Amino acid sequence: MKTSPHVVVIGAGTLGLCTALSLVEHGTRVTILEAHAIASGSSGRSVGVVGTQFTDPFDIVLRVHAMRRFREWESLGLQFNHIGYLRLARTPAQMNLFARSVEMQKEAGLRSRLYPASELRQLVAHLSTVGLEGGIFGPDNGFLYPHEMCNFLAQKVRARGGEIRQSCKLLGVRRRSGAYVLETQKGVIEADVVVNAAGAWAPAVAELFGQSLHICPERHEAIVIHLDPPLEYTMPMVMDLVNGEGTGLNFRHDKRGELIAEIHKAASAAAEDPDNYNEQCNDASKEKLAELLLERLPDLPGARLGRGWAGLYPVTADHRPFVGVLDPSQESLVTAAGAGGYGIQLAPVIGQIAADWVRHGAPVSVPGAERLSPTRDRNVPRNVPLSLGSFN
Ligand SMILES: Cc1cc2nc3c(=O)[nH]c(=O)nc-3n(C[C@H](O)[C@H](O)[C@H](O)COP(=O)(O)OP(=O)(O)OC[C@H]3O[C@@H](n4cnc5c(N)ncnc54)[C@H](O)[C@@H]3O)c2cc1C
Repeated sequence: MKTSPHVVVIGAGTLGLCTALSLVEHGTRVTILEAHAIASGSSGRSVGVVGTQFTDPFDIVLRVHAMRRFREWESLGLQFNHIGYLRLARTPAQMNLFARSVEMQKEAGLRSRLYPASELRQLVAHLSTVGLEGGIFGPDNGFLYPHEMCNFLAQKVRARGGEIRQSCKLLGVRRRSGAYVLETQKGVIEADVVVNAAGAWAPAVAELFGQSLHICPERHEAIVIHLDPPLEYTMPMVMDLVNGEGTGLNFRHDKRGELIAEIHKAASAAAEDPDNYNEQCNDASKEKLAELLLERLPDLPGARLGRGWAGLYPVTADHRPFVGVLDPSQESLVTAAGAGGYGIQLAPVIGQIAADWVRHGAPVSVPGAERLSPTRDRNVPRNVPLSLGSFN
């Protein structure tokens, strides 16, 4: 690899933009190729939740690194809405896991505390606590608007000399004297290193390089709930799913008088064609969501369902992202994709790790991050049903 390589990042979603930013901050020359527009893929369809209420130590480590970056960006003007994140527990065993999580987060400098069922209404006055043991709450967690995040990142990348070419789809790849010759909609561009951050399209991009990448595009839906009159308090993010147990219902404050809700399916959904899937919310999903909301928030005043939409989670077999080199004989092709339902909250740390791979050939700045490499063991077709991993 040259001392000052030209890196081309494929995809201007959160993963591509965060990778590009981590690279340009170290003086690397970067060009992003985006088939459509910034945030036109999954990133622009997400609900933007950033939370650290996890039970696995590595999941917390990743989020500690991500949160550091979010704080830095917040100080530079990125709007981060600190509404807090409440994850509900239905069993004493889940509460024990949460108690450990509180300890781990405390050690890492993050605020979090346990709430027994009897105190949950201090956080969500309308919550029915039927069937609940309690919950874990992180007051500093929250959400951001993904389009704003992507535009913020794009501006930072450009300010450091990075280039973003939109409507510039990668169509083909050749090798010439150790470099990649990339054929795009808008002509040819040469790269010393390529980062595949094409989200649900990452397998198609990998194929152009003769690689086989197993990422499954899963369709997920979100819907707006209108409240009239508006709540007199801010609804935190509330999640009813731990290690595959729970209804998967989740909701959060969006604007005054509006919540956004989703159902996180514990079982894997069917694979979708990212270029041809139903981008609307199905009536059956709306009905299910209304049923679950009535159960958990029975006395919500004047609630009615508003517009809904669907987008794709790019999911790997073990529900952890791929960050690293897939084929040791092609070290100059780095993958940063497969973040599933966490590609907003994990993007800063994935970008940091991907940049490590480009600059050092290893994930030097995040302990344990070699676990995210798309090794042969991990890069396998997804087996149904995988109920763990997502929201553990
Ligand atoms: C309904 C919903 C809710 C979600 N909620 C959350 C949440 O609350 N928190 C969270 O952390 N995550 C959430 N997610 C997940 C998150 O949105 C994704 O994990 C994340 O956006 C993936 O980012 P990405 O950069 O990998 O992919 P994308 O954003 O899809 O970006 C990939 C880009 O690559 C481009 N591309 C594809 N092929 C090519 C090519 N050949 N040449 C050039 N460009 C190409 C595409 O146009 C696209 O813009 C949610 C997702 C959905 C659908």
